[in-house]
Amino acid sequence: MRTFFYERAASPTEAIHAATAITDGNTSYLAGGTTLVDLMKLDVMRPSAIVDINPLQHTHLGRIDFGPNGLRLGALVRMAEAADHPEIRNQYPVIAQSLQLAASQQLRNMASLGGNVLQRTRCTYFRDVAYTECNKRMLGSGCAAVGGVNRRHAVLGTSDHCIATYAGDFAQALIALDAAVEIAGPRGNRTIPFAALHRKPEDTPDKETTLHPAEMIVSFLVPAAGWTRRSLYLKVRDRDSYEFALASAAVALDQQNGIVRNARIALGGVATVPWRAMEAEAALRGKPMNEQNTATAADAAFSNAKGNGHNDFKIELGKRTLRRALLEAAALEI
Ligand code: SF4
Repeated sequence: MRTFFYERAASPTEAIHAATAITDGNTSYLAGGTTLVDLMKLDVMRPSAIVDINPLQHTHLGRIDFGPNGLRLGALVRMAEAADHPEIRNQYPVIAQSLQLAASQQLRNMASLGGNVLQRTRCTYFRDVAYTECNKRMLGSGCAAVGGVNRRHAVLGTSDHCIATYAGDFAQALIALDAAVEIAGPRGNRTIPFAALHRKPEDTPDKETTLHPAEMIVSFLVPAAGWTRRSLYLKVRDRDSYEFALASAAVALDQQNGIVRNARIALGGVATVPWRAMEAEAALRGKPMNEQNTATAADAAFSNAKGNGHNDFKIELGKRTLRRALLEAAALEI
């Protein structure tokens, strides 16, 4: 591990000041550290300074709040705390399930919600500096995965420059529920749709989010809506525990008398970013939920999918995962 400056912040303002003071733009905030410390040990991330924001857990960044407008999740809430929260499990099951099915209990106890949505890809070529071709680590160096082993890589939102899969689960629940993200930075606070936080790789895969230097996530705002209770997260993976998704679906439904009034759908394990499947949602609107309509919706969701050989199976697996999630959500007894 390389040397770095370390500072512990006692307030959000102090944290942002500390991060801004390092002018090379290579500062990282430290929360649970379950991504950052791993990648520093692997020499993939090389921050020159770290601002430890764990003391801010005692501020609004560490709180879960319910109100008439919805749910507010502080960025420093630990995954396990949100996953086990009775009201989240009852009112927003897709959120609780997406967290419960991620990582291991030990990691969920440590990892923060803010860090979770910003976790880096599990692409082997990215995480092993012995491979020199990786546009995400070194823009312009190429992409070893395109012609290499790519069974776990993405089929949606890819580019010629990067096909790495977004690894998280919780982000799919947030994007499906139309969440927003509150951000603090040197120029003050701003709130953006969660869907605007991550960037597709296009020709700059090294830029993964729309966060500006020294900005930090403060909270996630999930609106109260008619579809949050009829929601679920379905995750398909090589083993049933402590494993990333090969395909997953976050689904939330507003249905009446068996007819879908509104469907909210996000896909994981198959895309380069948390993926909202708008075409599938449109295909279901005003229709009864049945085998035929879920198949049409799944086809729509993957109409632009592109495999790279080893990962071709993800297109069919992703469709089947989505169909099963939709049928199971429709059958929930609320
Ligand atoms: Fe790097 Fe992306 Fe290619 Fe993986 S898929 S080697 S992260 S550029």
